[in-house]
Amino acid sequence: MAARNTVTAFVNATVLDGSPDMRPQPNMAVIVEGTKIARIEPAAIAQVPSGARVVDLDGAYLMPGLINMHVHLCGSGKPVSAGDAGALMRRLDNGPGRAVVRRVLLKSAQTQLMSGVTTLRGAGDPLLADIAVRDAVNAGRADGPRIIAPGTGVTVPGGHGAGLFAQAVDTPQEAALLVRELMAQGADVIKLFVTGGVFDATEVGEPGVLRMPPLIAEAACREAHRLQLPVMAHVESTEGVRVALEAGVDTIEHGAPLTPEIIELYLEGTAQLPGRAPSLTCTISPALPFALLDPEKTHSTETQKVNGDIVCEGIIRGAREALDTGIPVGLGTDSSCPYVTQYDMWREVAYFAKYVGVGNAFALHTATQRNAELLGLGDVTGTVAAGYDADLIVTRDNPLDSLSALARVTHVMARGRLNAHPRVKRNAALDAELDWIMDQPVEALGDRA
Ligand SMILES: [Zn+2]
Repeated sequence: MAARNTVTAFVNATVLDGSPDMRPQPNMAVIVEGTKIARIEPAAIAQVPSGARVVDLDGAYLMPGLINMHVHLCGSGKPVSAGDAGALMRRLDNGPGRAVVRRVLLKSAQTQLMSGVTTLRGAGDPLLADIAVRDAVNAGRADGPRIIAPGTGVTVPGGHGAGLFAQAVDTPQEAALLVRELMAQGADVIKLFVTGGVFDATEVGEPGVLRMPPLIAEAACREAHRLQLPVMAHVESTEGVRVALEAGVDTIEHGAPLTPEIIELYLEGTAQLPGRAPSLTCTISPALPFALLDPEKTHSTETQKVNGDIVCEGIIRGAREALDTGIPVGLGTDSSCPYVTQYDMWREVAYFAKYVGVGNAFALHTATQRNAELLGLGDVTGTVAAGYDADLIVTRDNPLDSLSALARVTHVMARGRLNAHPRVKRNAALDAELDWIMDQPVEALGDRA
């Protein structure tokens, strides 16, 4: 990697360090040596090593790179009718087909990076291609963010993601076997699909219907934990959250309104991986378009629209209740869902502040330091401090004034590799709808918020 021997000095930076209030520190110099942050000093007394590449930020804001906890890399966010994606995947399951899928995923990962995401956790993608992309980035063969890769997810026949970004299992034994196979293929985390989703629901209330029998979820968690792998699970109902936590799932993705029993399960975490507090991953980005846009635009039926409303309410209420009761909450976009691009993590941060009702600083802290802690990387990334990996972004305007400052990053550095002119290929039609959504008052969600 080119970053290995390079020294970069960011001078005249306003540092936001990742802590809960982001601790703004003006007129600082941040010295990066190789892949790590070496020193942070007042610019006036900073000793910039000779030969260093000097980047004068002229007061601009330097903060930890964003961490996106829930990313499918296979799509662009353009709303399309799903069609028979499973059949397409079977056609691509060969050498040349896999190369095509890898290229698509790498491009998405690079788009995430150029939009300011220096670490992402996959949430299930076709043909284990996320693992191949992670390895290419780690080996320095490609530019990209740090990737926590699950490979494909684990589901049940007819369950969410089956045949596309998840493999189906019929029995607890098969679940444990698949977990071992995924581990052998290089998975960093196991993804389960415990309940249905908005798109595979044909009846009102169905997105949250429990699809995975508790014994299968338990077997998958037990095997994953034996191999020291954390488990993340797609869950969109209160009942589903209870079953997933009892089974040992470490992070609940999307979520639903809580009950006192569930709060206890979260806070006690007896079935979870030791040392990791069970947490919720809030994903408002895929839910809002269903709730606010005309059903025609999301290609959804009336039933799917009603289900979308239920899921949206569950995600927002679940996140509020979790924060109120001390349950850790992380943030992710669910990129590839309709209207969720690979370059809009900043919108999730802004939705979190707006709908869950936290301050801008805490929202940014959640997307950086908090997410890093929830990934078990709290001493590696997510914080601007000496010894941490140099995962950094710069914005011209102050994100604490308006989180929309994050929409345009002027510099991205990932493990010491600097992109001084990050560019993202945008979809103007999607951006227009998303900007409209961003302009809607909270009350537009009505009872749902
Ligand atoms: Zn997802």
